[in-house]
Amino acid sequence: MTLTRENCAALDARDPLAPLRGQFALDQVDRAGIIYLDGNSLGVLPKTAIARIREVVEREWGVGLIRSWNAAGWIDLSQRIGDKIAPLIGAGPGEVMVADSTSVNVFKALHAALAINPPSPRASAAQARTRILSERINFPTDLYIAETLARDRGLELVLVDRDALESHLDDRVAILMLTHANYQTGHLHDMEAVTSAAHRAGAVTIWDLAHSAGAVPVDLTTAGADFAVGCGYKYLNGGPGAAAFIWANPSHIARLDRDGFRQPLSGWLGHAAPFAFTPDYQPAPGMARFICGTPPVLSMAALECGVDTVLAAGDRGGMTAIREKSLALTDLFMTLLEDRCARVFTIVTPRDHKQRGSQVSIAFAEDLPSVAQGAMGDGYAIMQALIARGVIGDFRPPAILRFGFTPLYTRFVDVWDAVDRLADVMQANEWRDPKFSVRAAVT
Ligand SMILES: *Cc1c(COP(=O)(O)O)cnc(C)c1O
Repeated sequence: MTLTRENCAALDARDPLAPLRGQFALDQVDRAGIIYLDGNSLGVLPKTAIARIREVVEREWGVGLIRSWNAAGWIDLSQRIGDKIAPLIGAGPGEVMVADSTSVNVFKALHAALAINPPSPRASAAQARTRILSERINFPTDLYIAETLARDRGLELVLVDRDALESHLDDRVAILMLTHANYQTGHLHDMEAVTSAAHRAGAVTIWDLAHSAGAVPVDLTTAGADFAVGCGYKYLNGGPGAAAFIWANPSHIARLDRDGFRQPLSGWLGHAAPFAFTPDYQPAPGMARFICGTPPVLSMAALECGVDTVLAAGDRGGMTAIREKSLALTDLFMTLLEDRCARVFTIVTPRDHKQRGSQVSIAFAEDLPSVAQGAMGDGYAIMQALIARGVIGDFRPPAILRFGFTPLYTRFVDVWDAVDRLADVMQANEWRDPKFSVRAAVT
């Protein structure tokens, strides 16, 4: 049976999450005929954020002024929003702090992981744990932060392909640092199995949940993970530049407390008594030490609204329902793509449900031979031509066209229409217009 647009509309009609689309300010986007498949880069604006930011600006800042740090609870935002994110990632209250960016939190987590698993100065070179192991195609900022830290601490950042990770887990590895769902390929690691393998080898794990928090059920506690960081502006819909989060396993928090661990950015709001204004640093107990300075209150207000859009799925099946719809949307996209654009594109994202997040990455098949030789393919121009037709995805070099599916607002008919327009772009060779090859700063 071939699928029709009516089949897709029928799927929307019986989708338990469908009413949650009303949480988002999509009226103008819909009227312009835009299909947004880039929520994995920047989530859509929640309607509540518009009113909430207005309230924070006009009432809390405008009238409350400095009093709002106490009266409006600004000082507790890191903990309060962290506690809302916690159930989405299998963490408990007080275990998640919202602060800084993902990049900065990777830096803090790496330091904390090294405090748990320090390279022994007395061990022989062959025995010392001097390696940070990661995936070659992990998101660059994670790798850049680890590279510089490794240089400064006399460690070695070792990058391998996904299939070689396990064979590189040996007694030289201090930290295994991975992104749960890969930004390029959409490949999802089995967090529990990989964490167990790391622990058997004596390594500590850091998981980046940038592409899984709010999109894929995550259970850090059951997986026995050590540290995690994640992003506020992707599937958590927190707005451009929203603060990120950081988590540590409670057993490590207890140890960090015992050892008086200082995170490297030992700012005053991570101090045990910030308003004592003492000249010496005393880390706050628990995760609060991972806070550095003053939170961006306006931005945090938007992030809280974004996290609330995900929590709103709670009485409709929660993350389980989100995952189910995500897999149905991505399955549908792949099936339609093979129907309509057979052989034009290669699907890079694994078909196996267990091995993918909430995005589908494809490559223009004609590009692949030249890309293998180091050239930049035509994928960028194809994506620009598709965006000109109102389907927004993005491009990651050298050859990946990325489509993110956010079950809270992406409809099955959107998937149909997106593939329909992509097929048109390819059939009419629209993408060959030279204007589509002009690179913007953000791709
Ligand atoms: C999006 C993303 C980031 C973003 O880091 P920022 O500090 O917010 O710029 C980091 N790591 C991964 C894996 C990401 O996907």
